Amino acid sequence: MVDPVSKALNGHEASQWFLYGVLYTLAVLVMGLRMLAKYRHNRYQLIRTGSVMFFQTAFAFLIPEILVRLNYPYYDFKNIWPLNYSFFFDWNLHNLLNSGGLGIFMLVWGIVLIVIAVPVITYFFGKRWYCSWVCGCGGLAETLGDPFRQLSNKKLSAWKVERWLIHGVLVFAVVMTALVLYTYFSGQSQVLFLNSYTVRGVYGFLIGSIFAGVVGTGFYPFMGSRVWCRFGCPLAAYLGLVQRFKSRFRITTNGGQCISCGNCSTYCEMGIDVRAYAQRGQDIVRASCVGCGVCSAVCPRGVLKLENG
Ligand code: SF4
Ligand code: SF4
Repeated sequence: MVDPVSKALNGHEASQWFLYGVLYTLAVLVMGLRMLAKYRHNRYQLIRTGSVMFFQTAFAFLIPEILVRLNYPYYDFKNIWPLNYSFFFDWNLHNLLNSGGLGIFMLVWGIVLIVIAVPVITYFFGKRWYCSWVCGCGGLAETLGDPFRQLSNKKLSAWKVERWLIHGVLVFAVVMTALVLYTYFSGQSQVLFLNSYTVRGVYGFLIGSIFAGVVGTGFYPFMGSRVWCRFGCPLAAYLGLVQRFKSRFRITTNGGQCISCGNCSTYCEMGIDVRAYAQRGQDIVRASCVGCGVCSAVCPRGVLKLENG
């Protein structure tokens, strides 16, 4: 069914990955329209939803396919390591280095995003610039996942699991990538008792396929819309560390106005007990907050404000 679209974009018949990309993008667009209608009175939600629809369609779907047609590597300019865990794999580095000036630009761009864009932009705007405005996983969660956002676990025990798990995945990604780069530069795949090819295979299967792919999207109806972003995404962990310790972003609360209705906590997809902060009149500075702004949108008293000050 999607062969004509595939041929028009990249010149080939559709692979299963192309079909996956079509379905993913359609889900973001169709459910994005639903989101636009639902939050039509909220400017922040309108712009943010439009942004994830644009980045998914243009950057994650159309541009990479057109690059393939032009004999360049398939490249998503907004996908950042360690979410894009294969960025430093030998085949990807070879592809980029053998693709002329644009390939070199892609390599440098990818490194600039990791080293400069993440800390600097997160310092000014919090992790929301990526998680709620640009990222494809976040885009799917905010559109297809919106009807399930209230299912996220709000218990303290879930918060404890979340912190161990997401930072554990970040450490796993860093170690795996260090091994892969060691092999790339030294030609040796065995480092002490670890084989870098085995480790990257295990990471790809457990984290890339099972956690991000199957659990991350298939478990929306059981664990809420941000199950991958909350418990597994190593990039969210990196962004979260910057947000928690070095960012101007916070949600301010006007405690005196709060009527304790609990809407904000119910609809926080990251399982944050927003009401508890509001009742104390305390600013919310949490590593996990993706700045979706829905807590603020559903508050009947205008208690919560997302601020970069
Ligand atoms: S605290 Fe508010 S802005 Fe942050 S993730 Fe939860 S609902 Fe979204
Ligand atoms: S939605 Fe607003 S009024 Fe209701 S508990 Fe949260 S901060 Fe308080």
